[in-house]
Amino acid sequence: MSSDLTPYDLKQLHSEQLSRWETAYLNYKQLDKIEAREVVIEGVTMRIQHNPGRIGSVSAQIDKKPQTNCFLCAENLPDEQIRLPFGNDEYHILVNPFPIFKQHFTIPATTHTPQRIEGRMPAMLQLAREYTPYTIFYNGPRCGASAPMHMHFQAAQAGCMPIEEQWHTARRTVVCLHNSGELSLLNDMLRPIFVISATAQEDVITLFDRLYKALPPIADEEPMMNIMVRYENNGWILIIFPRAKHRPDCYYAQDASQRLISPGTVEMGGLFITPRHNDYEQLTTQEIANIYSEVSASENEILETISQLKKYR
Ligand SMILES: [Zn+2]
Repeated sequence: MSSDLTPYDLKQLHSEQLSRWETAYLNYKQLDKIEAREVVIEGVTMRIQHNPGRIGSVSAQIDKKPQTNCFLCAENLPDEQIRLPFGNDEYHILVNPFPIFKQHFTIPATTHTPQRIEGRMPAMLQLAREYTPYTIFYNGPRCGASAPMHMHFQAAQAGCMPIEEQWHTARRTVVCLHNSGELSLLNDMLRPIFVISATAQEDVITLFDRLYKALPPIADEEPMMNIMVRYENNGWILIIFPRAKHRPDCYYAQDASQRLISPGTVEMGGLFITPRHNDYEQLTTQEIANIYSEVSASENEILETISQLKKYR
């Protein structure tokens, strides 16, 4: 990393990186002319973005062993890639060369270790606080992570996903409280969404641990989920999307009903990325509603989760 980079400024990291890496520069430039549209489903606004540059990520074969070397391991990064250390050198902040957002970062662990949230929430919260107003997000290993073999977060400038505004005004049911913290379930959002808000980091972590233990368990794996966090008004907002399935059936359809959409935190947050133009044009509100109900935890699973959390009241 060059000595002229102020180490705590992601915006500067971004412009520094683009000035010395043509591929990344050109890919970000493409974002300027990207098409996007909005749809409203039962009063909830969603955005759809046509982004041909994301085809590799959307069609990642996460079930197969990668054929090539892990692209998040430091020794395999392109020579041009600047690495900004974070958290005692446990993570590196990298500019994502295949962006969805105007400022899009990948934050891999410095060691090659599987994608797991357990034990990593403190780092996630610290990233959000140190890099306010960026949004930090996490895709579970079977919930949209294109590199499930190597632990990583992502970051984007705040406000890119509709849920980041919507959660403020959404109706909610408080599930449990802990000191400065509150865990609630948002209502009428087409998909189940838990929100944890707290001013003390340990309260966020306690509530997240409770939720983690109460979500539908999966043998030898963490509960399926996508997570995003922001630090605002002197507190953290952690948004958790409980999942049931990685990709919807329409992803695998062999006819015109196929939609190449692979939901991760971004889609669960209300922004649908469509690498193919016909999916961008044809995706209907009904299809979005169907995708949400298919890939999210079911109503019964949410009721069970809430009933387990009630013991903390
Ligand atoms: Zn790796």
